[in-house]
Amino acid sequence: MAKPRKIQRLNARFLSIEWEDQQRCILELKTLRTFCPCAVCRGENVMGTVYRIPEMQTYTPGMYELVKIELVGNYAIRLYWQDGHDSGIYDWEMLRQLCQTYGRSGDGAADATAALDAGEEQ
Ligand SMILES: [Zn+2]
Repeated sequence: MAKPRKIQRLNARFLSIEWEDQQRCILELKTLRTFCPCAVCRGENVMGTVYRIPEMQTYTPGMYELVKIELVGNYAIRLYWQDGHDSGIYDWEMLRQLCQTYGRSGDGAADATAALDAGEEQ
C-alpha cells in the first residue's frame, strides 16, 4: 500500500498529500473533518469503503480549522481541530480512499493553488 511522502497543510482550506508513488492530491479540510473516523463521529462501526456525508451535522466554530497534524506510528496521522476535537486517526488507507474519492489532482490541484494565489482564502 502506498504511503504518503509528505503531508502539508496548504492554507485555511486545503491539505496537500504527496504519495510515495508520485501521486499528489489536495483534500479540503472540511472533507477530512466530515469523515472523521473517531468513535464519537462515526459510532462503533468499522470504517467501510463507502464514505457518505451524514445527513445532519452539528456545526461548531472552528471545526474545519486544522491546528495540528501529528504522525501516529508509521501508519496514520492524527488531526487536531480548532474546536478541540482531536480523536480522529486517519490511516494511510483511509487517506488514500478520500484522495481517490474527493481529492483534487493534476488540474484540480492547480486550480486550488491558483485560487490561493488569487486571494480567495482567508
Ligand atoms: Zn471525530
